[in-house]
Amino acid sequence: MGQSSYIVEQMTASFDGAIHRRGDAGYEPARRASVWNALTPDRYPDVIVQAASEADAVAAVRLARTEDLRIGVRSGGHSWAGNHVRDGGMLLDLSRLDAVTIDPQARTAAVQPGARGNETLAALAEHGLFFPGGHCVGVALGGYLLQGGFGWNGRVHGPACLSVEAIDVVTADGELVHADAEQHPELLWAARGAGPGFFGVVTRFHLRLYERPAVIANGVHRYPVSVLDEVFTWAHAIGPQVPRAMELMVVLHRDEHDEPELVVTAPVLMDDEAQAREALALLETCPVLGRATMSLPYVPVSLEDLYAGVQAAYPDEHRYATDNMWTHAPVEDLLPGLHRIAETLPEAFSHMLWMNWGPSPPRPDMAYSVEDDTYIALYGVWEDPARDAQNIAWATERMRELEPHASGIQLADENLGRRPARFVSDANLARLDALRERYDPDGRFHPWMGRLDPPAAA
Ligand SMILES: Cc1cc2nc3c(=O)[nH]c(=O)nc-3n(C[C@H](O)[C@H](O)[C@H](O)COP(=O)(O)OP(=O)(O)OC[C@H]3O[C@@H](n4cnc5c(N)ncnc54)[C@H](O)[C@@H]3O)c2cc1C
Repeated sequence: MGQSSYIVEQMTASFDGAIHRRGDAGYEPARRASVWNALTPDRYPDVIVQAASEADAVAAVRLARTEDLRIGVRSGGHSWAGNHVRDGGMLLDLSRLDAVTIDPQARTAAVQPGARGNETLAALAEHGLFFPGGHCVGVALGGYLLQGGFGWNGRVHGPACLSVEAIDVVTADGELVHADAEQHPELLWAARGAGPGFFGVVTRFHLRLYERPAVIANGVHRYPVSVLDEVFTWAHAIGPQVPRAMELMVVLHRDEHDEPELVVTAPVLMDDEAQAREALALLETCPVLGRATMSLPYVPVSLEDLYAGVQAAYPDEHRYATDNMWTHAPVEDLLPGLHRIAETLPEAFSHMLWMNWGPSPPRPDMAYSVEDDTYIALYGVWEDPARDAQNIAWATERMRELEPHASGIQLADENLGRRPARFVSDANLARLDALRERYDPDGRFHPWMGRLDPPAAA
C-alpha cells in the first residue's frame, strides 16, 4: 500500500471533508481549484486534504506528522504564486472554513480563514462596523491577514494584521492552541506578518473592529502616458500631505484604445463630506490637469462600487505574474524605471500600481516590519499560455531593475520564488527562524519559496 492510500484509510473514518490522492480523478480539479490564478503552478502535492471543520484541520496535521509529510496551507488560494501548491507532501485546503461571528457590542469578530474579506465587510456593515479588508472581491482573510493585509482605509487602521488580537492555531505537533498577548504570544507575533512562511494552521482569527466611515467617495483623472514625469513627480510631492483616509493611487494600464495611460484615483473613506471634498480637491493640484483626458473630481460611491472598479483590473480565469517593491527613493531615481515599465507594458489587463502609503506611524512589535512611503507593484495579466515566459519576465525583470531603489517588498504580491527579496526586518527574520525552530522543529510547514538573507556580519 502506498503512503497516500494509507493516509486516506486513516482519515476517512472520522473525517468530514474530502481527500484526493495524486492519480485520483478528483485530484487535478482540486489542485487547480486551489489556485485563483489560471497560471496553476507546475507543482504536485502527494495528497490534497479539503478540511470541512476545525477538527479536520487538526486530524490532517496529525496525519501529516505521522506520515512525515510537509504541509502547504490554503485558505482562499489568492496567492499569486500559488505558494501552497508544492511538490510532494500535503496540501491542506481550508476554504470551507468560512464562518464569521460578529460581536457588535465588543466590536470584535471571530473569522475562519476561508471567509472572504468583501463578504465579511458586508456583514459588518449591517452593524455599522468596519474592518480594513482587501480591495478585491473574493480574497480570503487567511492568507490576507497573515501577510499584512492592505485594505480599505489601511492607512488609517494600518495593515490588517495590526487588528488581529488572537488566533486559534494548529501547531506542528497537532495541538489546537489559542495564541494571544498572554498565551503563546510568540505565535501571535509571528502570525502578524510571516505570511506564506507561517508555521502553523490558523483556524480562526479574532479581530478588532472599527466604526464604518459615513462618507465614501472617489476622484478619477485620466492622463496620457506622455505626461508620466509630471504626474509621478506631482504624486510624490503631495504624498506626505494626503490625508490618511485617502488612498492615492496611480495606475498605469492600457485604455480602451489599447494605449498606455495613467489613471489617478483616490478613494476616501471619511466621516464628513466637506473633509472628503477637501481631500479630493488635492487631485486637482496636478500641474498637468489640463492634459487630463477625463476628470471626475468628486464621485460619491458605495464600497461595492469601489470593489467593482478594482475588480475590472483583475478578471477571473486569467494568468497572472506579480512583483513589487517598497521605496522612499526620490522620484527622479524611479522615473527611468517607470518609463521602461510603460514602454514594455504587456497586453491589457496588465498594469502597474503606484500607491502612496507612508509616512507610517510607529507600529507595535510584530513580524510585519517592512513598509515605506511608496508602493509599486506590477501585475502581468494575460490569457494565452504562449505568453507565460514573456509576461512573467516583464513583472520580474522590471522590478529587478528597480531593486537598487527598493527597501523591501510586500508579501501580498510576492514573487519570492523568482526574485528573493527582503520582506521583514533582519532582526524579525532571525526571530522568525528561531520561532520556527521552536514551534516546527521538523519543518512540517513549508517556508517562503525564496528569501534574501541579511549579509553576514564581517
Ligand atoms: C485578485 C487579488 C486581489 C488582491 N488584493 C489584495 C489587496 O487589496 N490587499 C492585499 O493585502 N492583498 C491582496 N491580494 C493578495 C492576497 O491578500 C494574498 O495573496 C493572500 O495570501 C490571499 O489570501 P488567501 O487566503 O486567498 O491566500 P492563500 O493563497 O490561500 O494562502 C497564501 C499563503 O498563506 C498561508 N496561509 C493561508 N492561509 C493560512 C492559514 N489558515 N494558516 C496558515 N497559513 C496560511 C500559506 O502559506 C499560503 O500558501 C490580492 C490577491 C489577488 C489574487
